[in-house]
Amino acid sequence: MQEKSKATLKKIFSQLPQVDKLLQHSEMLELSRQYPRELIVDQIRIQLDKIRTQISQAGEEQLSTDALNHDQVVKQICREIESALRPKVRRVINATGIVLHTGLGRAPLSRQAQQALIEVSEGFSSVEIELDSGKRGDRHKLVEDLLIKLTGAEAAAVVNNNAAATLLTLNTMAFEKGAIVSRGELVTIGGSYRIPDVMKKSGARMIEVGTTNQTGLWEYEEAITDATGLLLKVHTSNYKIIGFVAEASLEDLVALGRKHNVPVMHDLGSGMLFDLSRFGLPKEPVVSESIRIGADVVTFSGDKLLGGPQAGIIVGKKKYIDQIKKNQLARALRCGKLTFAALEATLRLFLDKEKLFGHHPVLKFMLRDEAELHRQAIDLQSKLSSIIGDRGEVAFEKGLSEVGGGSLATESLPTWLVLFMLSQCTPEGLARKLRLSEPPIVARILNNKIAFDMRTIREDEVDFIIHAVSKIANEGCST
Ligand SMILES: *Cc1c(COP(=O)(O)O)cnc(C)c1O
Repeated sequence: MQEKSKATLKKIFSQLPQVDKLLQHSEMLELSRQYPRELIVDQIRIQLDKIRTQISQAGEEQLSTDALNHDQVVKQICREIESALRPKVRRVINATGIVLHTGLGRAPLSRQAQQALIEVSEGFSSVEIELDSGKRGDRHKLVEDLLIKLTGAEAAAVVNNNAAATLLTLNTMAFEKGAIVSRGELVTIGGSYRIPDVMKKSGARMIEVGTTNQTGLWEYEEAITDATGLLLKVHTSNYKIIGFVAEASLEDLVALGRKHNVPVMHDLGSGMLFDLSRFGLPKEPVVSESIRIGADVVTFSGDKLLGGPQAGIIVGKKKYIDQIKKNQLARALRCGKLTFAALEATLRLFLDKEKLFGHHPVLKFMLRDEAELHRQAIDLQSKLSSIIGDRGEVAFEKGLSEVGGGSLATESLPTWLVLFMLSQCTPEGLARKLRLSEPPIVARILNNKIAFDMRTIREDEVDFIIHAVSKIANEGCST
């Protein structure tokens, strides 16, 4: 850089507001009521540095006067501070219609689970003490009886998530042994859960049999040797192979396992505690069916259709569950008290099927009445349209929502969408502004329009959407 422009830069920088001055600004004073002064001073320095870099990179001729307008600078710094200091784990409005959205924290919890979380987090809790004897307890026991009752299994254990449940089960039952699995079931879930990789990490040797679309029972049988640890069946949660297809049923695998004295593990992914098809929903495998058929160990997630906190549930024969609990890895994969509190409350809901549907948010979202969704879409459309007037367009139409989260992924549910666009925004720009609203709103883009899927929008969230849209319509999408 030339001497002259260095001198110019210095002069420009000297016109930027001082840290002390900024701290006195009324908007900063407002912020300092919410956040510690030290954090604010740090942020002011960071933001001033950013502005200096912007100025030096901009070149004199394109320097905008905004950079030196103190009010503008304060505004920008306040905005940046607010977004930097705001909590990162926040409630968002899910307008995607995807009920089990992994990016949005999967299952929303029931009131009962929320209450349990408050109770155990306020003080101390009985997570690992037997209240009767006063002795050190086993945390799996907190929910084991409930799981036994609800699945018909002999025993149960709970770990961090279903990935942990499969890792731990494979490590316990097939370490340095063969785990036989069909090539049609080598699933990838959400990019980071890949059966071959989980098997490798568990220390089991993956023995693939069959082809992508056809695997016969005889192929498992041919692969069985003295070094076989288990037969693995994986529910293909997020894809379907159709056409010329054959697979060995769980019944057949269980019979084969018994014949050769090899245990059978069933990774159900989501799993459900009863048959959803009785209620007009697509069928998802039922845990108690796998147990009844004779699977030795069944694994499933706590936060998919079960509707609880993130957890991996392992149910099955006591002999194996005992080994699983004793495995050193179990300690590394264990859940905390918050998980157990929310899981116990969620499982309890299933004891009373009559009340379940009124309390279980995942089921409630999945079973929402189409006519009601239609009515809400009309209502939102008319409110948005009166706000944005001729600055954009709003319409409603019939659509489909996914269940998501690796559950019923090939199925969709009929829904109603409100589609809208602002003429001054791109669809991506508008989606971004919605995500940056307070609270953040996450929506899909469909045919170059924002789609609000009414399925996952609660009645009390509609006003936030209206407020956010009206703010964006006034401010535009450029910032
Ligand atoms: C979702 C899923 C998993 C992973 O479960 P997480 O609880 O997300 O760890 C594993 N296997 C199958 C078949 C799944 O559908």
